[in-house]
Amino acid sequence: MSKTSDKIIVALDAPTFEEAEKLTQKLAGVLRHFKIGMALYTQSGPDVVKMVHDQGGQVFLDLKFHDIPSTVSRAVEEAAKLGVWMCNVHASGGLTMMQEAKKAAAGSGMSVIAVTVLTSLENLSELGITATPAEQVVRLASLTQRAGLDGVVCSPLEIRSIREACGKDFRIVTPGVRPVDAGTQDQKRVATPAKALQDGADYLVIGRPITHAPDPASAAQQIAQSVGTGYVL
Ligand code: C5P
Repeated sequence: MSKTSDKIIVALDAPTFEEAEKLTQKLAGVLRHFKIGMALYTQSGPDVVKMVHDQGGQVFLDLKFHDIPSTVSRAVEEAAKLGVWMCNVHASGGLTMMQEAKKAAAGSGMSVIAVTVLTSLENLSELGITATPAEQVVRLASLTQRAGLDGVVCSPLEIRSIREACGKDFRIVTPGVRPVDAGTQDQKRVATPAKALQDGADYLVIGRPITHAPDPASAAQQIAQSVGTGYVL
């Protein structure tokens, strides 16, 4: 397994357990990290996490916890009990909520990262926030770091400013990544895998360019190789 393929987190956005299992079987020899989001988890529950573990994969449990600190703390504790590699919370839940999440994960080996501003949110003023999305992202990333969490999820366009504000020991996980020859589907702000890594991302979340490919394993391998050779630059 190449180092580059370890930087890919495949978004396992399958509609059922069975389809998630088929995809995982195809990809487990090529990729290590699998993202399970709220739709698949609500449909399949902890069994789908176990299924990925049984195939030798590691799970990013993308449930974006956002609630009062004690509730988020309990949810993070439960995620840690599932043995997942990484889970996430919303930074807008605040400093105390994130500090409690951090405490709940302590000693488990599980990383906790935060979502800053959802990339689907274009108009923050509807929430009463006067900052621009770019300013708000950096503010929330800095708050995440202050809370002691491991990093953030952010769009490719925000990688550089977060890296600048939070330094090198802060994990940046980036969706919206598209190889040059792939469609963008509903993603608005995209970057190629090579550009996202060059800008300072640690991990790339890639879904449909891999999962909807006729041969997902070879699509994943091609993406990993393209980064290695700089082909997509
Ligand atoms: O198929 P695609 O590569 O667009 O999948 C990206 C994955 O990352 C999806 O699971 C999506 O929910 C998730 N995501 C995102 N943008 C964010 C946060 C998460 O696309 N800002």
